[in-house]
Amino acid sequence: MNNPTILTGLRVNSEFTLGNYLGALLPMVRLANKYSSKSQINIFVPDLHSIISEVDGNLKQNLVRSLKVYLAAGLKINQNVHFYRQSHVPAHSELCWILDCTATMGELNRMTQFKDKSDGKDSVNVGIFNYPVLMAADILLYDAVYVPVGEDQFQHLELTRRLAERFNHNYGEIFTLPATPKKQAEFMADGRGDEGIRVRDLQNPQKKMSKSSRSENSKIMLSDNPAAARKKIMSATTDSVGKIQFDMMNQPGISNLLQIEALVNNLPLQDVISTWAGETHYGDLKQKVAESVATMLEAFQTRVGEISDDEIMQLLEKGEGYANKTANDKLRKVQECVGL
Ligand code: ATP
Ligand code: MG
Repeated sequence: MNNPTILTGLRVNSEFTLGNYLGALLPMVRLANKYSSKSQINIFVPDLHSIISEVDGNLKQNLVRSLKVYLAAGLKINQNVHFYRQSHVPAHSELCWILDCTATMGELNRMTQFKDKSDGKDSVNVGIFNYPVLMAADILLYDAVYVPVGEDQFQHLELTRRLAERFNHNYGEIFTLPATPKKQAEFMADGRGDEGIRVRDLQNPQKKMSKSSRSENSKIMLSDNPAAARKKIMSATTDSVGKIQFDMMNQPGISNLLQIEALVNNLPLQDVISTWAGETHYGDLKQKVAESVATMLEAFQTRVGEISDDEIMQLLEKGEGYANKTANDKLRKVQECVGL
């Protein structure tokens, strides 16, 4: 495929953890920088998706802050990189409606995310049910081929492909089908250099680090004071094996620290493992990782501080010009097809 469009939605309901940064943001920034000389890179804020559930803080402020994170993470802006808000491109909602008229209740009822999110609740908003169709519109309006999403979104991606196929079958080749989940995963691995990093919870390393975790000590937020982050690493749960080695099964805490050390310093994991091979003092490893994380956070926060709100607003306005033009062109064709 020639210069396929890459599209990513950035949920801004709350702040990011070190896990989100190392596992999702940095790989995306690497992919974008690698392909942006030829491909369109659409980085949009799915703010219509955000209001499906309660928003933590102020959505407008959150999205400005989140886009700054992309820039601070090293995203290079050129004429092919576009920031836009879903709510500022009305074609998303409109195509969603048209696709709604082709999707079936059965198809949406089968979505495991919907089942999970509605399980046991007396009342569930229609947005939660319908959200996969809006997601299909987000993708199909731009003929996006690569949509780096986690495994939890693969079913929605399959639905997008099915809706596009159905529409094309009925009306002619209007939509480009996004790549299959397998192809997406291969493409993403290219940016990451391995298959899916999962930074672990510092207090309970059996689990992955999650921003929704209630324990503050279990996660490092990108906005954490570097000294506080250092303390969190120093109090991370380890084990009683007494050997520094990479063994996620039996020593997830120590393995997690080795992995964080590698990712934060952009070193091959194998090099970090070799450096610590034969060592037994967990405290030394913690000191080193704490130092690395604090140094990274300090530099990162300085970069974020140098980016003004105005700069982000200008990028959004420019991006929304591109997005409205592209999306409206596609929407017109779709409207004609269905007789509107
Ligand atoms: P929540 O607790 O609300 O689910 P989360 O921290 O799991 O929050 P998501 O919004 O679910 O974050 O995911 C955002 C992105 O970060 C996804 O691409 C996801 O795969 C990635 N991600 C989430 N947690 C980690 C982690 N611990 N390590 C690496 N990547 C992660
Ligand atoms: Mg999650």
